[in-house]
Amino acid sequence: MSSVISLRDLQDMVRAGQDVKKLPADALITPSARDFLHELEMNGGAKTSGAAKPATAGADKFSAPAKKLTSKSPQPELEAFFNSPYAHNLKEQLCDIGRRLWGREYVDGNGGNIAIRVGEDIAICTPTLVSKGFMKPEDMCLVDFDGNQLAGSKKRTSEILMHLQIMKKQPKAVATCHCHPPYSTGFAVAGVLPPTCMIPEFEVFASVAIAPYRTPGSPEMGQLVAELVDKHNTILMANHGVVSWSHNSVEDAYFKMEILEAYCRTIMVTAQLGVPAKTMTAPQLQDLLKIKQSLGIPDPRHGLKECELCDNDEWRPGVSCQVPEKAEAVIGLDADAEAAVKAITDQILSQMK
Ligand SMILES: [Zn+2]
Repeated sequence: MSSVISLRDLQDMVRAGQDVKKLPADALITPSARDFLHELEMNGGAKTSGAAKPATAGADKFSAPAKKLTSKSPQPELEAFFNSPYAHNLKEQLCDIGRRLWGREYVDGNGGNIAIRVGEDIAICTPTLVSKGFMKPEDMCLVDFDGNQLAGSKKRTSEILMHLQIMKKQPKAVATCHCHPPYSTGFAVAGVLPPTCMIPEFEVFASVAIAPYRTPGSPEMGQLVAELVDKHNTILMANHGVVSWSHNSVEDAYFKMEILEAYCRTIMVTAQLGVPAKTMTAPQLQDLLKIKQSLGIPDPRHGLKECELCDNDEWRPGVSCQVPEKAEAVIGLDADAEAAVKAITDQILSQMK
C-alpha cells in the first residue's frame, strides 16, 4: 500500500534536515506537496528553510494574540481585540471572500454569510443587509456562540446561528461560508446528492450531505446542519443553498464552494452528452481518499472496503460492488429445474422398459 506525502510531511522533513528528494517511488504526493517540491526545485533545492516562508510571511503583525479571549472577557479587551491589526486582517479576508462570492454569482441580494472563529466561543462574522460584494472591514461583527453581538456597529447576519452551531459541534471548524450557488442549489432543491467517482478535486476536498429544509436563521436549521458536520464539510441545505466549514482558513471554506459548484455544473454538462458517464475505479478512488485523510478532511467513506466505495443508484454511475457469486448459485440448478429433469429422466426410463 503506497503512503501519502502531504505538505506538512515535507515541511517536517525540511525542518529535520532530511532530503525531500528521497521519497518512496510509489508515494502519493498531495497537490500542495507537489507545489512545494516544485518550488524547492526552482530555488535550486538549497533554500530549504526559505521555502516554507510564504505560509508564515508577515505572521508577526497579524499573528493571533497570545491571550485567548472568550465571550466572558472584559468588554474593553474584546473591543481592543476587535480593533487590532490581527482582527482587521480577518475582516479584510471576509470582505475579499465576499467579493469572490458575489463575483462568481454565488450570492444574490444580501444573501450569503461568512464567519471566522477567533476564540473558544467567539467569532467575527458578516453583517445583515449588506451585499457580500460590497462589504467593508468596519461592517463586520463580533459575536459569542449564542449569537449575541459583542462588538461592531452593524447588526450581525440573521443566519449566524447556523455557523455557530457548526463551530460548536465541530471543534476543528475555524471558518464557515454560506451562499446560494445556482448549480449546487439546484441539487439541493431537487434533494439529490451529486454523484461520486468522477472528478478528483471533488472527492479530495468536499464531503457532501443534504440537510432538510427549515426556515433560514432558525435554531432548527442550524441543528440539522450541525448534525452532519462530523463527517461532512459541505452541506447542501434543501430548497436553500450550501454551507461549508474548513479546518484551515476562510479561503479554504470558500474553496469548497468553488469545487462543489464547478462539479455540479460539470455533472449537468455530462448528463446532457447522451452517453453514460465514465467513472474512476474503486482503487483509484481509494487513492484519493488516502490523500483526503492525510489532509485531515472528514469523509464517511474513510475505512470502507474498495468494493463499497462507488456503490451506485441512478445518480451514482460508478462501479458496483462486484462480490463474486457463490459457485453453487452459478452452476447449481434450482429446485424447479431439478424436478423437471427428474420428470423427463423418469419418463425416458419408463419408455425404455
Ligand atoms: Zn441563505
